[in-house]
Amino acid sequence: MSEHNLISELLKTHINAYCPFCRASLNKTEKESEYLAFKAEFNSNEIELKLSPYINVYEIESEYMKGDKFDDLSCPHCGKSLVTEGVKCPLCDYGKTAMVLVSSSAKLVEFYICLRFGCEWHNLTKADEKKLKPVIRGRKCRSRTQR
Ligand SMILES: [Zn+2]
Ligand SMILES: [Zn+2]
Repeated sequence: MSEHNLISELLKTHINAYCPFCRASLNKTEKESEYLAFKAEFNSNEIELKLSPYINVYEIESEYMKGDKFDDLSCPHCGKSLVTEGVKCPLCDYGKTAMVLVSSSAKLVEFYICLRFGCEWHNLTKADEKKLKPVIRGRKCRSRTQR
């Protein structure tokens, strides 16, 4: 492992995310890869959305592109919508956000996810930020064909 890779390995902040309703874990492992699993609504279709379980690490296999807007994000276990009423993302014009609980030391903190894919807003407090670094997003891996 090169020195650079070693450093980025050490800087990875892994998060454990839970549904705020049923408290089920949203972390999922499949073969070698680990991700956060959600149900989402995209263009009126129900889809499975994978997000990186590492803050500041963007390599996640996704067919969605930065800027894609999801209509809903819900728990794959209980099916409840995680979309928050009245909490808007201040970083983009979309503003729809979802909230999950993430573990920070021994305590669960609220972690917001903007439903505009790739948007970096998270709404953690300064104190939370010290324990969890802020960015959660996927990376475009396959380009979607233009329709
Ligand atoms: Zn749930
Ligand atoms: Zn946003």
